[in-house]
Amino acid sequence: KVRVRFAPSPTGGLHLGGVRTVLFNYLFAKQHNGEFVLRIEDTDQTRYVPGAEEYIIECLSWCGLIADEGPHVGGPYAPYRQSERKAQYRQYAEQLVKDGYAYYAFDTPEELEQMREKLKTAENPSPQYNHAARVQMRNSLSLSAEETAVLLEKGTPHVVRIKMPLNEEVGFTDMIRGHVQFNTGTVDDKVLLKADGMPTYHLAVVVDDYLMKITHAFRGEEWLPSAPVHLLLWKYLGWEAQMPQWAHLPLILKPDGFGKLSKRDGDRLGFPVYAMDWTDPKSGLTSGGFRERGFLPEAFVNVLAMLGWNDGTGQEIFSIQELIERFSLERVHKAGAKFDYEKAKWFNHQYLLMTDNNRLAALLESVLKEKGVNAAPEYVATIVGLVKERCNLVNEIWDHAFFFFQQPETYDVAAVKPKWNADKTQFFRDWASVLETLSDFSLATLEESFKQLATSMNIKVGELQLPFRIMLCGGKFGPPVFNIAEVLGKHETIARIMKGLD
Ligand code: GLU
Repeated sequence: KVRVRFAPSPTGGLHLGGVRTVLFNYLFAKQHNGEFVLRIEDTDQTRYVPGAEEYIIECLSWCGLIADEGPHVGGPYAPYRQSERKAQYRQYAEQLVKDGYAYYAFDTPEELEQMREKLKTAENPSPQYNHAARVQMRNSLSLSAEETAVLLEKGTPHVVRIKMPLNEEVGFTDMIRGHVQFNTGTVDDKVLLKADGMPTYHLAVVVDDYLMKITHAFRGEEWLPSAPVHLLLWKYLGWEAQMPQWAHLPLILKPDGFGKLSKRDGDRLGFPVYAMDWTDPKSGLTSGGFRERGFLPEAFVNVLAMLGWNDGTGQEIFSIQELIERFSLERVHKAGAKFDYEKAKWFNHQYLLMTDNNRLAALLESVLKEKGVNAAPEYVATIVGLVKERCNLVNEIWDHAFFFFQQPETYDVAAVKPKWNADKTQFFRDWASVLETLSDFSLATLEESFKQLATSMNIKVGELQLPFRIMLCGGKFGPPVFNIAEVLGKHETIARIMKGLD
């Protein structure tokens, strides 16, 4: 049975790269009738951001990428929060020490600092705790068994470190990148268990992937350098046969392809999924996520899918069901995926056109409320249908539709003034009277009576339409003018003509 996991650390918001990892895990799981697990990796208490876990869960739910197991829904491998699994990890660390793959290290922060000072050279400005350093430090490899026993007995604070082999080649087959090979000599003796008894990410991720029977793991490319540590842990713990298959997803790049996705500068690439209650430590942003910017979740998910994947046919619009059917690892690019915000808006536009107007009207509710507008949902839906063609984001709908809800406050007088004359004033006065008598205020009738009157007064229809538009909307924008009038209705249309003539 396929089991995948998304294992975020609750250290801030969720960004494009993070949700794309969720999506690829999800698609792969659903394609194989498998299970998708959410596990919260909160072992680093210093980076913990309160509310981040709820934020992540809410993001997943907005995107419709629902986890089958997780801290919010439980499941057969609960608990799904690593801080609540603390007790499980020590035994594995102890086992590694016993088997000679790890060791106790008693060094104080001062001693570690001294070591770094001593070993620092121009080529190696930040020396690591590795095979070269470990012999000079206070640990169970350099001390005698008796000395170690005494220190442990006294309750001396200590960590457990992995004993990285000096010069060994380790490798694995990545589902996207193919065979990847590392030399263990380049990796330091990572801490596995901290002095407070908490595991580090490296130990916890291996233990939990094992205990939770994870079969496949998609994660960001930034985790590739950690892979040799994980690989050795799987081997040392005797679980190598159960090791999940990994897929390291390429980075997300700026549209020009240069430079890694910057989370810090708060540019478009760094937008979180939705605004958060705190200042995001990564982007420095508090608001302005994709959701607030007016993206529809289906469009957002479609955009994510295309970040590093396509089906090879040129098709760009995919429903989640289609994605589940068509997703294929062979078609995930190895190179970085470019994120283009303008293209993302294009995707959203396509989804606006496909989305039911009643649903869009409901999304607009909060905007209308903010503007003090109280309108019937059916009325809003009709208007959305008329203007959505001109919008990319849900939030743009108001800008294209405000005049349906309120009379114009200003008029683009300059647009009509040069050609204005008494005949035109007369035309609109007369037409307003004609409108009063209409029993059927439909598009066709309106247009017909407008043309008839214009012809009888010998004025070109084309010269009257712009003034009419400005009376209704205030400016040179909006959907076809008779459509606007039809929606506004008789009373309001006449009122706006009279106000406009003033
Ligand atoms: N906790 C890691 C993170 O925050 C998970 C990495 C992994 O998937 O192994 O991204």
